[in-house]
Amino acid sequence: MTDNFAFLLPFFMTVFGAVFLSARLWAAGSATFWGLGFLSAAAGFSIPLLPPEVLSFKAQAIVANALFLAAFCLFGDALLTRFGERHYRAPRYAFAGIALVAIAAVIILKEDLRAELILGDTSIALLLIVPVFQVARAPRRPMDRLLVFMVGLVVVETFTRVAVLILMTSSSDVGTLDAFLGSAYAFYIQLGAGVIAFLLALTVLGTLVDDLIQRYKYAAYRDPLTGLLNRRGFEQAMDSMPAGRLAGTIVIGDIDHFKQVNDRFGHAAGDAVIAGFAALFTQFMPRKAILARFGGEEFVAFLPEEVPAAAGEIAEKLRQAFAAHAWENDGFNCEITASFGIAAQAKSDYSVHAAIARADACLYEAKRAGRNKVVMEGKVSGETPTLRIISSS
Ligand code: GH3
Ligand code: MG
Ligand code: MG
Repeated sequence: MTDNFAFLLPFFMTVFGAVFLSARLWAAGSATFWGLGFLSAAAGFSIPLLPPEVLSFKAQAIVANALFLAAFCLFGDALLTRFGERHYRAPRYAFAGIALVAIAAVIILKEDLRAELILGDTSIALLLIVPVFQVARAPRRPMDRLLVFMVGLVVVETFTRVAVLILMTSSSDVGTLDAFLGSAYAFYIQLGAGVIAFLLALTVLGTLVDDLIQRYKYAAYRDPLTGLLNRRGFEQAMDSMPAGRLAGTIVIGDIDHFKQVNDRFGHAAGDAVIAGFAALFTQFMPRKAILARFGGEEFVAFLPEEVPAAAGEIAEKLRQAFAAHAWENDGFNCEITASFGIAAQAKSDYSVHAAIARADACLYEAKRAGRNKVVMEGKVSGETPTLRIISSS
């Protein structure tokens, strides 16, 4: 059983290492570090499987320790990369180098397996504990919390292993070490370490799959030009609102004579105007508002728990700011305006579509009444001008 276990550990670590390395195609930079780390650990566990004619026992021990130190440096890198923390790579790798020299000295000069095990495990645990503390408070998703917990568990488990070894064996009596290493107890400790490593690998895989899902979700629910929600994202956000917050106000904004902007200044200028409107929209609307770009140059906001009068004041300020916006930085010079329609969404409304349709009718009124206006279920405000071309460049 012990022999099977010895093969199993490097086998599953190699498989996970290879999976993580290929995951770097879709996941953030941390996948590469996880991949190299698991491959390094797999190689570390494989070394003792070599016959001594290929590599002497002492050389095996030194190479295996070097590979474990490298693996734990890489796990630290993976963690710090994922959460965008400072790497402190020079001190961490220097520490690993010094630890390796000390371990090699113990192996070559003292031939002391007990000291080698204590030094080796303490060093790898220390290498990982600093990154764990660095990322412990970083904001993150549930999957990331699990990841930090699992890496923390690896550190705790490694320190526990060292403590048990120190308590159960004696440095003066080599026999106690041999008896301990051969005991069922020591085997279960090793088995526990293998299980924790396996769970860590599964958790890493979970975070990488989670990244992929988040990325597709973002692409499916967001508009790439403005970063606002698209229609699907808006509906999803509305669906996930708690029922009690469904009362509020819908604001629809539409850029006036936008087709002329495209025709006169080109599509890129049109895109800049859409992005500029989205930026002001985000700036003026309350933080809790759900903002979306519904189509070409049409924007929708749901302001939860806001009455139409308050939403109307916000839209009026936005209308004035957009009309006053200078577009010189975007390579053209003209005054562009937008029209707004506002409607209340009652808690009892079956869906938000009815309020959107009423706000759209108000928007139509604003367009019909000369554009550059805010129309609020019957009320009209604003001036008369439409798109005024000051000069073209
Ligand atoms: P109105 O004042 O009545 O709103 O007139 P309008 O010209 O703004 O509205 P219309 O719906 O006639 O034209 C919208 C144009 O927006 C047509 C389309 O080519 C353009 N458009 C849609 N999406 C984009 C985009 O992503 N970028 C750019 N540059 N143009 C877009
Ligand atoms: Mg328009
Ligand atoms: Mg339109």
